[in-house]
Amino acid sequence: MIPMGKVSKRKQELLEVSNTCINCEQPLALDQRFCSNCGGKRMYNRITWRNLFEDFVDRFLNIENAFLKTFFALFKKPEDVIDGYMRGMRKKYLPAFSYFAVALTVAGIYAFIIKHWFMDDMIQAQTSFYSGDAAEIQKSFASKWLTTVMENQSVIYFAIIPVLALLSKVVFWNYKKYNLVEHFVIYLYGYSHIALITTVLGLLFIWNQTASQLYGMITPFITIAYMGYVLKRLFKLDSGNLVLKTGLFFLLSFVLLLLFFVITAVTGYFMAKTGALNDTEFYKLIQKQAEAQKAAKALRDSINGDTLKHTVELIKDSIQ
Ligand SMILES: [Zn+2]
Repeated sequence: MIPMGKVSKRKQELLEVSNTCINCEQPLALDQRFCSNCGGKRMYNRITWRNLFEDFVDRFLNIENAFLKTFFALFKKPEDVIDGYMRGMRKKYLPAFSYFAVALTVAGIYAFIIKHWFMDDMIQAQTSFYSGDAAEIQKSFASKWLTTVMENQSVIYFAIIPVLALLSKVVFWNYKKYNLVEHFVIYLYGYSHIALITTVLGLLFIWNQTASQLYGMITPFITIAYMGYVLKRLFKLDSGNLVLKTGLFFLLSFVLLLLFFVITAVTGYFMAKTGALNDTEFYKLIQKQAEAQKAAKALRDSINGDTLKHTVELIKDSIQ
């Protein structure tokens, strides 16, 4: 005979097993341990500390592990990560958007640090060539510009990737290996990876203005070199083709930028004509800037003029 207490205790540990999936409500056979629709695991017992611990390891440590694995593989064999994702690999490496999310988070931390502790340094670095009134105007301009960039970092990241994918699809028009979606995946991983690295390195140089300025200048080259490396491995390019495709990428980017400037200029022209532009803060700032530059030039010219007059008089005096 089983003591009553024990039975009820065992009964308490069992969950009522339903015949549908708890996640997606798909009907399940009695012996099915996983849902064939959503992959959800069926629970028979009440949650235990062990379950909770396993879930913790699965969510945190495995992500960390997958992150590190992905991070190093994107250096050593990026094609394994990128092609793998395209073929459905989701467990070995961090999925593309998760990796992108990590890059965004790091960029967010960077923006936070800059905004709270280094804004003045950044502005100083961008306006060190100006003095007097012009410097003040430039400073307010740089401050607005930097704040806008920092606040919209994620939007900028998100906008850059499809543009790169589109350019890339055109550059590799004669390679049928990847379609547009797959090009998008290439940049989702590649651009996230290099943005992650350049952001973390940027934090190392932030303490020194000169180092940070120099670093800012080489960042685009690091990015281009890395993307070139990724594409070289994905498309198995030889050196000649790599140079050719890089050149084509530059040419297309240049055309795109030119197009962007023309559209901006034309829009600006019509906005100025209708007077809509005069009310924007950007326009007011530009005007102030132009005025300050004019004033600075007038001052310089008058000083030069005075110096010249003075020199001529000195020469006259010395001749007499
Ligand atoms: Zn399900």
